[in-house]
Amino acid sequence: KAVMEKILCQRSLQMLNQQQAWQESPEGKRMLEFRRRLPAYKKKERILSFISMNQVVIISGETGCGKTTQIPQFILESEIDSVRGAACSIICTQPRRISAMSVSERVASERGEKLGESVGYKVRLEGMKGRDTHLLFCTTGILLRRLLADRKLKSVTHVFVDEIHERGMNEDFLLIILKELLPHRPELKLILMSATVDAELFCSYFNGAPAMYIPGFTYPVKTHFLENILEMTGYKLTPYNQIDDCGQERMWKMNKQTPRKRKSQIVSAVEDAIGAADFKAYSPQTQESLSCWNPDCIGFNLIENILCNICENERPGAVLVFMTGWDDISSLKEKLLAHTVLGDPNRVLLLICHGSMASSEQKLIFEEPEDGVRKIVLATNIAETSITINDVVFVLDCGKAKETSYDALNNTPCLLPTWISKVSAQQRRGRAGRVQPGECYHLYPRCVYDAFAEYQLPEILRTPLQSLCLQIKSLRFGSISEFLSRALQSPEVLAVQNAIEYLKIIGALDENENLTILGRYLTMLPMEPKLGKMLILGAIFNCLDPILTVVAGLSVRDPFLTPLDKKDLAEAAKSQFCGAYSDHLALVKAYEGWKDAEMDLGGYEYCWKNFISLQSMKAIDLLRREFICLLKDIGLVDSNTASCNGWSSDVNLIQAVICYGLYPGICSVVHNEKSFSLKTMEDGQVLLYSNSVNARETKIPYPWLVFNEKVKMNSVFLRDSTAVSDSMVLLFGGSLLKGDADNHLKMLGGYLEFFMEPTVAEMYQSIKRELDNFIQS
Ligand code: ADP
Ligand code: MG
Repeated sequence: KAVMEKILCQRSLQMLNQQQAWQESPEGKRMLEFRRRLPAYKKKERILSFISMNQVVIISGETGCGKTTQIPQFILESEIDSVRGAACSIICTQPRRISAMSVSERVASERGEKLGESVGYKVRLEGMKGRDTHLLFCTTGILLRRLLADRKLKSVTHVFVDEIHERGMNEDFLLIILKELLPHRPELKLILMSATVDAELFCSYFNGAPAMYIPGFTYPVKTHFLENILEMTGYKLTPYNQIDDCGQERMWKMNKQTPRKRKSQIVSAVEDAIGAADFKAYSPQTQESLSCWNPDCIGFNLIENILCNICENERPGAVLVFMTGWDDISSLKEKLLAHTVLGDPNRVLLLICHGSMASSEQKLIFEEPEDGVRKIVLATNIAETSITINDVVFVLDCGKAKETSYDALNNTPCLLPTWISKVSAQQRRGRAGRVQPGECYHLYPRCVYDAFAEYQLPEILRTPLQSLCLQIKSLRFGSISEFLSRALQSPEVLAVQNAIEYLKIIGALDENENLTILGRYLTMLPMEPKLGKMLILGAIFNCLDPILTVVAGLSVRDPFLTPLDKKDLAEAAKSQFCGAYSDHLALVKAYEGWKDAEMDLGGYEYCWKNFISLQSMKAIDLLRREFICLLKDIGLVDSNTASCNGWSSDVNLIQAVICYGLYPGICSVVHNEKSFSLKTMEDGQVLLYSNSVNARETKIPYPWLVFNEKVKMNSVFLRDSTAVSDSMVLLFGGSLLKGDADNHLKMLGGYLEFFMEPTVAEMYQSIKRELDNFIQS
């Protein structure tokens, strides 16, 4: 022990010498000058004593005030100054990979070091961390995984949980665990940090933990909404169909008949109102129309116009454009590069800020461009609070965000862009006023902003609980309901029970709520269990290629477009993809057609002619590639396989696999003289969405439809369905492990009698059992 202490002491001294040498060097002094100007630095001593006096503290402050880069660094410096450097171990979690990487690099350079010395990072599949790393930035998922093996976080002295205002599921999840750990580790410090926070909620959760606020300063920001922006350019906002039908334009108005039950419902009604072709800007003078909310391009023309105007007429200052994700960022970039002004590298430095950008590109974001060159950064909501670009003066906000993350523990199945909250919109606007008065262009009407939710619902309350329940099980936290009852805001009891029941039905959990083998695989796939299940079976039965498309297709916007003025043409175009009584297979056909046409100008003409969204096709393509990587990671696809072309495309098999994934989303098809009706066990009669390929049929030569989603309006509507046969349902529906044939047969109603024949029932059961065993093993 004495030897160990001596070594620690020696190392701590070395660290102290190194730190002092840097602080006295000219570069070190210059760096310190920059840091001293940050609001957090001005409170350094207060922050340090605040942390040392309390086990849990909450620190909030304006984005960019220096929370993430400075506060963990203060601790490290002060521990080194008191010759305890070698004994401290500080962990700071980030919700996203990219911020863990960029922040750690920044902190290392502020300390005059390379990454992996005293400061390091760790994210899934990647990291820079050495023997002497004492300050580690990591994703929240990484810390959760460490807790699996090291329940007490032995040797960790400080845990920072950053960006808690985002209320991500992983962060909420981590807090449940840390809260329980604190009494067992009295010397462990927990620091919660955030931009804007409902401090009271966190204070009372941690039994009265104190909160501290770091005041910041921002300049005023002039705000424009879509109607002003359009007016500036001579356009008016009109309902698209009314121009065509009545030949006159009326100001576009939000549908006031929206049921005001829940915020999210209002938001989706707004989205319906201005989504797709319902909404268009139209110039009464020139008869010209401008697409504002074409699903294919979130007002790309509009963005281009505004950017061009800024470049030609406005004072210097960087521009930050908030987009939803990689797909629209890359398409917009392509479009802008082709523009005479915006694509001219002597006038514009066009950069992207996105989770998967290269680190060389990351650095450019923070640098000032040469004189006369305007920096334009196309970003996701990463730039909202996690990454601060200093010289921004103009902000464009598309009003939407998409969360995608592929950390297996970061199990976020939501891939669709959704409206942001008012708080997010304010954050985005605030980015424009950091160095001088700024300007913000919200690319949506004021009334849409008014309908935004105040805060975004915590992820734990809005994402499907099935994935969360699987995670709790994979981290071995015992009873799901009991664990979730200890959360900051617990989901409803019934919702939890439903999720557990569902997981049992699909065979991910057994009777006693333990993970099955299938369940274990599902925890490794960051998507809804049903989609993961479909992928797994697709891999087992060698029909992965079409199944990848089906699963990716279910995660993006409906790629079949129906512009109101060309409805008939669009319908006719779509009919060539029908024929298999399946929306899923129609999509597979459309995608395969696009793949064949892609060599020809990216398949643009194919999409145009067939009323297919090119954006969705590209998004599907990207997702497919990511899914393959995931399947390779967990060993379900041979890692040497380059692509999956040539794998089985037997339609029956694909239908069976779709059935396997979507069960228990199933309804029976009842034929009458002229057409058919649909029934589910719980709802009785249900209807199909009019855009379903099955809605155009008068007869469906199968007894069942499996469906992806059920939406309750005045009636219950089914979205995306595939017709399947009895044998598919018998063999691929229902619980795999239980092999609960009795229930299963009841479900199949009329077939019960048939199976009363004991030999047939036995035969079925044994086939089913073998199949189940095969899949589970
Ligand atoms: P907060 O966490 O409070 O939002 P940060 O600690 O991330 O603030 O950032 C503090 C300051 O450091 C900001 O002004 C930001 O612009 C600057 N900064 C952060 N990362 C970098 C970087 N990689 N390069 C240059 N400046 C950076
Ligand atoms: Mg921060």
